[in-house]
Amino acid sequence: METTAAFAGLTCVDCDGRFDPEVATHRCPGCGGILDPTYEYDAIEVDHGTFDERPFESMWRYEELLPFPREAAVTMDEGATPLVDCPGMADELGVERVVIKDEGRNPTGSFKDRGQTVALTAAREHGASDVALASAGNAGQAAAAYAARAGVDAHVFLPARSNHTNKAMVNVHGGDMTVVGGRIDDAGAAYADAMAEEEWYSVGTFVTPYRHEGKKTMLYEIVEQLDWEVPDAVVYPTGGGVGLVGMHKGAKELRDLDLIDGLPAMYAAQASGCAPIVEAFEAGRGRHEPWETPDTICGGIEIPDPGASPLILEALRESGGGAVATDDEEILESAIAVSKGEGLEMGATPAAAASGAWTLAAEGAFDGDDTVVLLNTASANKDADVLRSHLMGKGI
Ligand SMILES: *Cc1c(COP(=O)(O)O)cnc(C)c1O
Ligand SMILES: [Zn+2]
Repeated sequence: METTAAFAGLTCVDCDGRFDPEVATHRCPGCGGILDPTYEYDAIEVDHGTFDERPFESMWRYEELLPFPREAAVTMDEGATPLVDCPGMADELGVERVVIKDEGRNPTGSFKDRGQTVALTAAREHGASDVALASAGNAGQAAAAYAARAGVDAHVFLPARSNHTNKAMVNVHGGDMTVVGGRIDDAGAAYADAMAEEEWYSVGTFVTPYRHEGKKTMLYEIVEQLDWEVPDAVVYPTGGGVGLVGMHKGAKELRDLDLIDGLPAMYAAQASGCAPIVEAFEAGRGRHEPWETPDTICGGIEIPDPGASPLILEALRESGGGAVATDDEEILESAIAVSKGEGLEMGATPAAAASGAWTLAAEGAFDGDDTVVLLNTASANKDADVLRSHLMGKGI
């Protein structure tokens, strides 16, 4: 297995056991906990100049801080997405700057590509012939694309309500797709049944140790694009929390490497129809309770039982951030407000971050000199129909 020099193995977040990544491929062999890639940070010699000199064209430009070298990567030059200034929104929020990290400009139109490039690299290094996952949609599309690139078969379990683009493109990439009636948990149950029978390699959320590892590069890019200044707040549309946990890890790494001073406050934005993280945060708990009847138009964050909630809640508290829920009507209005006001096309699910930011601003969470980052996790092309029918519902 080809790994980077400083990659020192996988550490269990629950029992602290350290494992060889050749042997441990998914969850902790000892206790079943989440495994987290670990590095010898003393062996990583990078400074601002190291990165400033490199072209900004792929997340693999941070390869010293990733488990696998760029030459081994299953990649389509994902990442390196723009950070777009939104001055109108900054005025409305009463802050110095609002910038939107536009992850819609990834190969398959969502930030899920950052997780799947690393997960499929690991799968190929482990000699997998078949990868599998259950997904609300975007992760399934990304997995099918990166599996095609790696030359392995993808088995994707999607709920019936995932969007047309996701389903169509899994087929187009040659993936084996199972569409399950109901929601993400129903797709998850069908996936679990299949996994009990098959020898497939999981690329599922926090089952592989490598998806949050890929997504941490969003934070690296954001601070580099801000000339190594730490933003005051990062508002993230949160489902399973892979991106939020990854970005918080990325911030701690850069801080410990003396590349930045301090951590951005991480805010989890959810839809009020499925807000287990917000509920747990507000109740001061360290773990969520499963949401009974999830119901939101935001499919990508309709995750009623996010298994990594302790890591998400710890990131929110450790960074001095918070959690906010807004309803679907406000979220769709926010998607349209950003598209109309700034030109930037924002999908329905990521608009939970915009909507959450408006609410946080109204609650006084931000200061006048703050820089606030919103994550546009997927292209509006994925749910243009949802946005358009919202307008139709208003007679437009
Ligand atoms: C998957 C997804 C999310 C949530 O991602 P997590 O990191 O698992 O919380 C948010 N937005 C979109 C568009 C997604 O596809
Ligand atoms: Zn363990």
